[in-house]
This record gives sequence, C-alpha cells and structure tokens, in this order.
Amino acid sequence: MNGRLLIISSPSGGGKGTIIGEVRADVVNLAYSVSHTTREIREGETDGIDYHFVSKPDFEKLIRDDEFLEYAEVHGNYYGTSKTFVDRETGKGRDVLLEIDVQGAEQVRGKVPDSVSVFILPPSFGVLKERLSQRKTESPEELALRLENAAAEVRHFSDFDYVIVNDKIEDAAADLKMIIKANRLLRIRQKGLIRDILTTFDNH
Ligand code: 5GP
Repeated sequence: MNGRLLIISSPSGGGKGTIIGEVRADVVNLAYSVSHTTREIREGETDGIDYHFVSKPDFEKLIRDDEFLEYAEVHGNYYGTSKTFVDRETGKGRDVLLEIDVQGAEQVRGKVPDSVSVFILPPSFGVLKERLSQRKTESPEELALRLENAAAEVRHFSDFDYVIVNDKIEDAAADLKMIIKANRLLRIRQKGLIRDILTTFDNH
C-alpha cells in the first residue's frame, strides 16, 4: 500500500518547523521532503537537510525537466518539491510530509486527491509578528514582506482539511501526530491487513 502525502502550510514564523521536528522524532514510517529553493542559506541551516539550495538557473532547469511535483514563488524566491523523492518514499509505503506554501498546497491537492492537508494558524497576528521578529533570521524588509504575505495566506485556511491553532507548540505537535495516525486508521488504508485477518475467519 502506498504512503500518503501530508501537506503542512502556515505563514512564515507560525512555528511549523518546530512542530514538524517533534512529529518526525515520534512517528514511524514518515519521510520529510527536503525542498529545493533559490533563497539564500541562513545561519544555522545545512544544505541538503533544511533545503537543497540551488541557483535560479538550476531551479529553472529542474522546472523544464519536470522534476517538481509542485513549485511556487514565495516571498520573492522559488521553492519546489521533488517528484522523484515523493514517488520513491510513498512507493515504499511511507507517508511524506510536505512543508509548503498555500500555492504549492493547491497544486498538490489537484494532482494527488488523497493527500491530507493541514493549516497551522498562529493564535493572532500579534503573536505571529512577535515570533517572527524574535527569530531574527530576516532583514526588516524581509520581515515586513512575510507579515504582509501572512495576511493573505491565513485566508486560505478554508482550502485545508484540518486547522491547528498553534498556541502551545507541544499541543500543536500532538494534534498533528493524531491527524497522521487517524489517517492511517482509515479503512481504505488497511485493506490488505483486514483481508488477511478476515481469511483467518474462513470456514468458521
Ligand atoms: P522559508 O524561506 O521561511 O524557509 O520558507 C518560506 C515559505 O516557503 C514557507 O511558507 C514554506 O512553507 C514555503 N516552502 C518551503 N518549501 C516549499 C516548497 O517546496 N514548495 C512551496 N510551494 N513552498 C515551499
């Protein structure tokens, strides 16, 4: 049985990185799709772990070669999801987490209808601003752009299957784990196992 795609979106500074880290440490059979981006590498980030950092011409070549399941321009940079990685991991039966923006989420939903999408909503604009300012990874201009984009992004909550309000990180992580586990319990995802169990009831 193939794994499912789990789309996670939230405005920048919504805390999704920390939530995803907790979930990955705790949930088995879960892969994380490392996106390609043309954004500058930040202090503390590692190429190949946080992102595959590539030049704009290299990114455009990957687009031409049809290497992306989805891609979008976000806050002035390109970001995209590798189709090869996603196909390989879901083929092995692993669920794959895609941490992507609302435009990418829409593209994936269109191509992979059984994907599950989760929007992580900060408790308020004020809290988002505070969290984003505190992490000090953006210039004042970048910060302003991300906050401006956040106002448009949160309005997309209604495109998503689930919404988690990220008040406390540990509660939000627990919620996301529950969603992943509940999806794995869907009858349709357990067909093979159920069939095997039912054969033990044959002739009884
Ligand atoms: P950041 O630069 O803060 O790491 O990410 C900026 C935005 O790009 C976030 O909203 C993040 O979810 C989004 N993003 C990261 N990877 C991808 C991707 O592969 N595709 C799309 N569409 N968005 C992405």
